[in-house]
Amino acid sequence: MIKSPDDARFAVREHINYGADLIKICADNSPNNTALTREEMQAIVEMAHGFGKKVTAHANSPASISNAVLAGVDGIEHGYRIDDATLALMAKHNVYLVPTDYHVAPIGIAYHKKGGWTDEQANGFKKVLNNRLRSAEKQNVKIVFGSDIYIDFEMPRGDAAKNVFKAYMDAGIPPHKVLQYATINAADFIGAKDKLGVLKPNAFADIVAYKGDLEKDFEAIFNKADFVVKHGKILVNEATNSGETASKK
Ligand SMILES: [Zn+2]
Repeated sequence: MIKSPDDARFAVREHINYGADLIKICADNSPNNTALTREEMQAIVEMAHGFGKKVTAHANSPASISNAVLAGVDGIEHGYRIDDATLALMAKHNVYLVPTDYHVAPIGIAYHKKGGWTDEQANGFKKVLNNRLRSAEKQNVKIVFGSDIYIDFEMPRGDAAKNVFKAYMDAGIPPHKVLQYATINAADFIGAKDKLGVLKPNAFADIVAYKGDLEKDFEAIFNKADFVVKHGKILVNEATNSGETASKK
């Protein structure tokens, strides 16, 4: 646990020395009741930025989110209880929000069962999440996709993570925007926008293509990509059936 700004500087240096390429801090530690001070976070940001590393903060209360933003962090994780004034502050300081949301079924149900919530409580919370995402969009806060799948949902983690696309769409965010959260915005957030999330010369060739209209039929076709390229190698090519995966079948 950090006890002072000096302690914070040391912790960042130590992590960077061990090879960390991003610093994640707990501005607050909800549901546990402790928080870093703004001075400690300023020291963290200064040290991390000095090494060219970004800082992102787990933060849920408006007070600790504001403190983290004013301390200079690059992103806020979760932000479950953020209010409109704090969203405006984030937009002003160009700080990303990573809303680790979930669609109510089946992830939400599994999650809340573990926490002993009733369906009513779970649905109420889901409405809070949807409202804050709409509000963030309205205020032009930059959004990055984040799954936060850290407990056992009795399904493969990849499947659980894909549920987050649906969670964002529950709030009325159109599919093309949600895909940008997971591609170009995420690339920008980690400082890799020349290589990731874009189609252009010298970028990583990671591409998926679909038959149909994702904007209209996202759920029906999202899991059935017709064309997948990873690092320039064709893995799936349903059109010619000559991709690696297809030929292995
Ligand atoms: Zn977190």
